[in-house]
Amino acid sequence: MSVVILILILWYSGLFFQTFFLHRYAAHQTFTMSKFAEKVCFVLTWLTQGSNYLSAYGYGVMHRMHHAYADTEKDPHSPKFDSNLFSMMWRTKNIYQDINNKSVQIEEKFTKNVPQWQRFDAFASSRISRITWAILYIVFFIFFATAWWQWLLLPIAFFMAPIHGVIINWFAHIYGYVNFKVSDTSKNLLPFDFLMMGEAYHNNHHAYGGRPNFGVKWHEVDMTYCIMVVLDKLNLIKLKRD
Ligand SMILES: [Zn+2]
Ligand SMILES: [Zn+2]
Repeated sequence: MSVVILILILWYSGLFFQTFFLHRYAAHQTFTMSKFAEKVCFVLTWLTQGSNYLSAYGYGVMHRMHHAYADTEKDPHSPKFDSNLFSMMWRTKNIYQDINNKSVQIEEKFTKNVPQWQRFDAFASSRISRITWAILYIVFFIFFATAWWQWLLLPIAFFMAPIHGVIINWFAHIYGYVNFKVSDTSKNLLPFDFLMMGEAYHNNHHAYGGRPNFGVKWHEVDMTYCIMVVLDKLNLIKLKRD
């Protein structure tokens, strides 16, 4: 049971910092916060995403390109231009690394105000950090797995970020319903998003990228936005009103 709880904690905490910090802050700047709070978010992203750590810069720049070029040849990830989800994941990984290594020329509109903490990113993305986290997950499983099938959950810990990425970038660009007519294939994957903390309302988000709340209909509760409202009330962040 402890192993299942660990996977659930890793799933939702890592996802929270992906959607809250990398997506809604770094890429879309739907709220502001102090430089100190920003640094705290970098560290918490590392603690929650562990071996799957994504840098705000690499994610933020790549994601802005996704919105600008959604479902065209220049889109970093699209089911329309990638033959299967594994080739999409591989291409996404390579583009993310090229952006982070600054080995490709990027237009200024994609990099403007995207937060970056180069020294921390280098440490948190290093092989030593990723391997140490992976060993910690294995050690936890050795101590706490109580049935053979629980070991099947270990790859989820190792591939958390690609799994989260594929759910939205592949499945939410193929399956689901549409609230807004947009020029890309984005869909709302779930009518009530219990799985992706609001990210599954992907059609709403493509229609209104700058909105902090991804939900529109009464049943589209956006858990991340609910937390953001509380953080705003506590003056830890400042929401931009839409
Ligand atoms: Zn999309
Ligand atoms: Zn977005």
